[in-house]
Amino acid sequence: MKIRAFSIPLALVVASPLLAQQTPQQLADAELPSLLAIYKDLHAHPELSGHEEKSAAFIAKELKAVGCEVTEKVGKYDKPNLTSYGVVGVMKNGAGPTILVRTDLDGLPVTEESGVPYASKDKTTNDEGKEVGVMHACGHDIHMSTFIGTARLLAKLKDQWKGTIVFVGQPAEEIGIGARAMLKDGLYTRWPKPDFAVGLHDSAQIEAGKIGVTEGFTYANVDSVDVTVPGVGGHGAYPHKTKDPVVLAADMITAWQTIASRENNPVDPVVVTVGSIHAGTKHNIISDEVKMQLTVRTYKADVRERVLAAIERIAKGCATAAGMPPDRMPTVKVRQDEFTPATYNNPELTKRIFGVLQKAIGNNNVEKSDATMGGEDFSEYSLLPDYSVPACMFNVGGVDPKKFAESQKAGAAPLPSLHSSKFAPVPEPTIRTGLIGMTSVVLDLMKK
Ligand SMILES: [Zn+2]
Ligand SMILES: [Zn+2]
Repeated sequence: MKIRAFSIPLALVVASPLLAQQTPQQLADAELPSLLAIYKDLHAHPELSGHEEKSAAFIAKELKAVGCEVTEKVGKYDKPNLTSYGVVGVMKNGAGPTILVRTDLDGLPVTEESGVPYASKDKTTNDEGKEVGVMHACGHDIHMSTFIGTARLLAKLKDQWKGTIVFVGQPAEEIGIGARAMLKDGLYTRWPKPDFAVGLHDSAQIEAGKIGVTEGFTYANVDSVDVTVPGVGGHGAYPHKTKDPVVLAADMITAWQTIASRENNPVDPVVVTVGSIHAGTKHNIISDEVKMQLTVRTYKADVRERVLAAIERIAKGCATAAGMPPDRMPTVKVRQDEFTPATYNNPELTKRIFGVLQKAIGNNNVEKSDATMGGEDFSEYSLLPDYSVPACMFNVGGVDPKKFAESQKAGAAPLPSLHSSKFAPVPEPTIRTGLIGMTSVVLDLMKK
């Protein structure tokens, strides 16, 4: 009798906390059908950077539904007439750390060719007045669906964490101005300043079901540079009566490649790409001017400064060598307002997150990924120049495992990259993996 009397309460003691402690995995499975429906709807109706009105309103509605204090239209752009559709939702749960969780909201001016049944057929007018297709070609719809799921799960798991979560729905990531606009509008003063900032991005190079993590620099400084090369135009048959800016621009383009190959310490990555070059109207006219647009990628602040200075020095040096008079020198304009700083994954935080993700989705499903020269304005949340707010962005695989396996065979066509009209992440298990991963990370950083 005695043994029996003992065994029943003991069993209850053991069983009750197990029943109470729901896991992100269990809750993710229950939320998934709703999140997949949300994803398909968001995917079918993307909005361009700076125009995320409906996406932002939807995020705001979802955050309110899980008990967040929500503020809309957060953000101040430098461009006057542009509304910032930033959303801030604060979920409070007693005293404890503050964590910022971020999603971006915007799509891209790409006409979708993915072939999925929920593909976007939407068209819109861009800021130049041209009609363009619009597509979630960077997967920000994956981010939004995962973000909504994370908010739902953390609202249900309040017995397992304490502190304040600041959910940030950020506009205009693709043009690199959204995060800065939100910070400028008081993101860290009107709302609690975070102890950590976390975010995820889908990956077009990692299998769905897996997560890639990079420690240290993970995305690059991105600078947009406009170069105008004046010449002295004239008849194509009489080059000696002109100063041909096309030949001069060609010299510059080749010489700029020596910045990475000859001037720079090879262990510091540098990319100088001339993405656009325009001159002339006709075969037999030597043009008066060449215009070029460059993207310049670096990691370190001092490397960035040196590379930008070298672009100008080489441009002017080439012009001098071509005999251009001082009043016809090229102009090199760095678009400071479009600068995206390098994203730095705080090593200590990243190591911790790596371990949490391994526990949450299995050791074999978490891999160390290489850094890339892509750009992400998530970097702004770290606060430059010293990255004083520890931040980490990890990469959630979106590629159909079968297609991934095929792409690994010799001679196979490369997988469609982010921003490709054919990019088609598989919603399940991508969203499920991101959701479990992000929820587990926040729970660990805020655990009771
Ligand atoms: Zn993108
Ligand atoms: Zn993106």
